[in-house]
Amino acid sequence: MSYVPYHKPGTITMLAGPCSIESAEQLDEVAAALSELGLTWIRGGAFKPRTSPYSFQGMGEEGLRIMAETGRRYSLKTLTEVVDTAQINMVLSHVDALQIGTRNMANFELLKAIAVATAKNHQPVLFKRGMAATIDEWLSAVEYLTIEGNPNIMLCERGLRTFETATRFTLDIAAVPVIHKRSLFPICVDVSHPAGQVDLVPALAKAAVAAGCDALMIEVHPNPAQAKSDASQQLTIPEFRALFSELQTVAAAVGKTIV
Ligand code: PEP
Ligand code: MN
Repeated sequence: MSYVPYHKPGTITMLAGPCSIESAEQLDEVAAALSELGLTWIRGGAFKPRTSPYSFQGMGEEGLRIMAETGRRYSLKTLTEVVDTAQINMVLSHVDALQIGTRNMANFELLKAIAVATAKNHQPVLFKRGMAATIDEWLSAVEYLTIEGNPNIMLCERGLRTFETATRFTLDIAAVPVIHKRSLFPICVDVSHPAGQVDLVPALAKAAVAAGCDALMIEVHPNPAQAKSDASQQLTIPEFRALFSELQTVAAAVGKTIV
């Protein structure tokens, strides 16, 4: 099986970018910083699965147009979440890779439709773990994505709902070695959504790299205080740069480079 272009052995793919795409200027600032660091991907949401209908729902297709243009300008590959079966082909016409969010891990009709839509061109799919799903349930659900022939799937641990309230979600760091033991899929760790707060992000990111993750997801925003979603957990660009430098040291210690 080939996991190109999502993951090459010996590398950690950095999937950084804002929670939501908010404007061309906002995404440009983040993309410029990522490309200056030699990174290869940018993430950003255009269709946001928000808990409240009164929260910002995302820019929709206009956001995807911004993402496509920005990706082209900086030669960054683009990743965004898809939430609706009717929008899969439209989303794929703008971006390089699809994300399935935690709230849709068990939306099997969405998974089936994504499997069909990516059967021919094998576009990468990032498959997040449901916030209340066991690893068995997650590994069973991922088969919906591969069944039509797309091998380019990456799993993503993003924290679980537990009794703990000190963090937004409880990051299951043990999922990294368990996934390596139980499956061939590369494993990403999203450290922003479990942290819920900026100051916890660096420790979780370093732990994920040390634990053997194949990719990291980190939310970055030019002005987090003004962010339209997840304001408290997004790193500023200088904070991201500082963390990236620390992560390179941890990655080197485990024989990997961050791309
Ligand atoms: C996201 O990454 O934008 C997101 C909504 O994450 P999750 O599905 O893990 O909450
Ligand atoms: Mn977010």
